[in-house]
Amino acid sequence: MSSIATSVQTAGRAVGSKTTPGPILLMGPPGAGKGTQAKELIKLWGVPQISTGDLLRANVAQGTPLGRIAKEIIGRGELVPDTLVNDMVAVRLLKPDTINGYILDGFPRTIGQADWLDDRLAAQPEALPVVAVSIKVNYNQLLRRITGRRNCPVCHTIYNVYVNPPKVEGFCDIEGAALIQRDDDTEVVFKERMRAYEALTAPVMEHYRALGRFAEVDGDRPIDKIAAEIVVAVERLRR
Ligand code: AMP
Repeated sequence: MSSIATSVQTAGRAVGSKTTPGPILLMGPPGAGKGTQAKELIKLWGVPQISTGDLLRANVAQGTPLGRIAKEIIGRGELVPDTLVNDMVAVRLLKPDTINGYILDGFPRTIGQADWLDDRLAAQPEALPVVAVSIKVNYNQLLRRITGRRNCPVCHTIYNVYVNPPKVEGFCDIEGAALIQRDDDTEVVFKERMRAYEALTAPVMEHYRALGRFAEVDGDRPIDKIAAEIVVAVERLRR
């Protein structure tokens, strides 16, 4: 059995036997691996990933009114206004698959969003509060991950031209589809996204740290090791 399966099963029993995981917030700068880790954790807990970036990009692709507003903002690396994002998340949280918990990937990203979510959960007597885990990765590594990131438009597998290239350059190993690069995965937009992160999202970490519901893990390690560390952190924070 792989180390991830072992450690995740051990910690999964501990978390799963006592309670459901509840709302888990994965935090970290662009390129920290929040989406990758969310996918590891949903295998364990069977709860959905709620990625506001993915939801916004779906709105952009569908040309909804929200998508038309978000497109320009995302392209500049800035944040979409809180009220629009909160309303979008409110709709997503109504789905029954969120009953045992969910993995928040990229939300809340501002203090306003965090206050909105905390108040909403506090108003539901049966709901657990958010626990936040931040994935820490150094700046140069983040830049390499972001500018090297390529996605398969069919199966959504994520590659990296530097560290995890496809077998045939530019094409998905599984689907054979031409890989695409997100418009905001350029160095210029990355720098703006980092600025937004430092100014608006870093205070969200301090918010959950002050509430005693925050942990940090080293994201410059193999995917399975990071996932196992997140599981242990969540178990400790839920105790
Ligand atoms: P991500 O896929 O999480 O890197 O998000 C891509 C972009 O979507 C961000 O740079 C923002 O422009 C926008 N976005 C995603 N989540 C949020 C959020 N919670 N609040 C505001 N803007 C967001």
